[in-house]
Amino acid sequence: MTAHTEQNHFENALARLRRIGTTTGISAEVIDELSRPMAILEATLRVRMDDGSTRHFPAYRCRYNDALGPTKGGIRFHPGVDAYEVTALALWMTLKCAVVEIPYGGGKGGVTLDPKELSHLELERLSRQYIRAMADFIGPDTDIPAPDVNTNARIMGWMADEYETIKRTKAPAVITGKPIILGGSQGRDEATGRGAFIVIQKLAEKKSLKPKQTTVAVQGFGNAGSYTARLLADEGYKVVAVSDSKGGIYRKDGFDIESVYREKQDSRELKGVYCRDSVCELIDHDTISNEELLELDVDILVPAALGGVITEGNAAKIKAGNIVEVANGPILSEVDDELAGRGVTVVPDILANAGGVTVSYFEWAQNRQGYSWTLESVRARLQATLTTAFDAVWKIAEEETLPLRDAAYARALRRIGETIETRGTKKYFNGKS
Ligand code: GLU
Repeated sequence: MTAHTEQNHFENALARLRRIGTTTGISAEVIDELSRPMAILEATLRVRMDDGSTRHFPAYRCRYNDALGPTKGGIRFHPGVDAYEVTALALWMTLKCAVVEIPYGGGKGGVTLDPKELSHLELERLSRQYIRAMADFIGPDTDIPAPDVNTNARIMGWMADEYETIKRTKAPAVITGKPIILGGSQGRDEATGRGAFIVIQKLAEKKSLKPKQTTVAVQGFGNAGSYTARLLADEGYKVVAVSDSKGGIYRKDGFDIESVYREKQDSRELKGVYCRDSVCELIDHDTISNEELLELDVDILVPAALGGVITEGNAAKIKAGNIVEVANGPILSEVDDELAGRGVTVVPDILANAGGVTVSYFEWAQNRQGYSWTLESVRARLQATLTTAFDAVWKIAEEETLPLRDAAYARALRRIGETIETRGTKKYFNGKS
């Protein structure tokens, strides 16, 4: 099935879980319970290509833990997807939902492919095929998928439609991140970026960073990275570098990110552009690689692309004082201690990118109510949810002298631990409590 080295994704996630479990006093029973997934479904998607040929794609869905509610998490389309990566991401979803106190467990799905090689029609067939394979494994009360890397609202729409066709009923709450007209929520598209922005604002407040004097580098210009960069620039932060999978751009005085965004939408290329009304001009900028972006001397580094980008190979070269993990798992657990030792503040993924799943929860709640909320209401609730979570994590970090990641894990694990204790532990059944 999968090469040995790729097991590292999940092993890495477990190593961190066990380390933090020990330092924060979580019981061995809870850590043991969280050390393996509840269920994984692995399938082969047989898809008809436009030229009449057939291709086969490995597909996965992992339901990691449902102690706090139905499992929840995105579906990614990427060549790097394998069972171990999906499982690690599903474990992180379990912790993420617990940190922000939404009534879900964690899950994740994926298909191993490069979606850029597929036509729109092939992509639609593949998306529908995924649901045909998974229809009995997911459901509005059991496991609720959503977008992740390389998947979007249109794909969620196809998937919801396929599920409803198979089940012969309307079931919009089976999947979130849908187009608004098909039961999606206002504000879901921007939610991960807005969540990251809320968290960065909180961090800036705690560290007395003034937006205009604060430099930021954002790796990744997909949904999460581009919204984060735009909201930060709009607030006055100096976004000095951004990148996409092809490379990055740097400018000491910062970019007009809205113009860069529009240019990228039109030309599909990242360029240092400034626009006034309809007149755009190319401004002086340097091109940099994704690796160089990570090593820039900025106040806040925002890895918002893929996992595993900060490793033993480059951790010593990271100069940013603060790292906000908008991607899932950008920092490998083996460098947690090194970064903490150097005084780098890391806002962990399970808090920094929880805005997406939080608004997914709002979408699911609206679908079940049959009643849509306004954008203002969604934004206000997102702000409240993340502010509460951030403040609680910050308090644990201060009171127990822990890095923010350990504090976020402690909050999540204590919550999940309570469900396990309520159901009965070894101590209880031995009549000792
Ligand atoms: N894929 C996103 C994440 O990693 C969102 C998941 C969801 O909305 O369920 O958090």
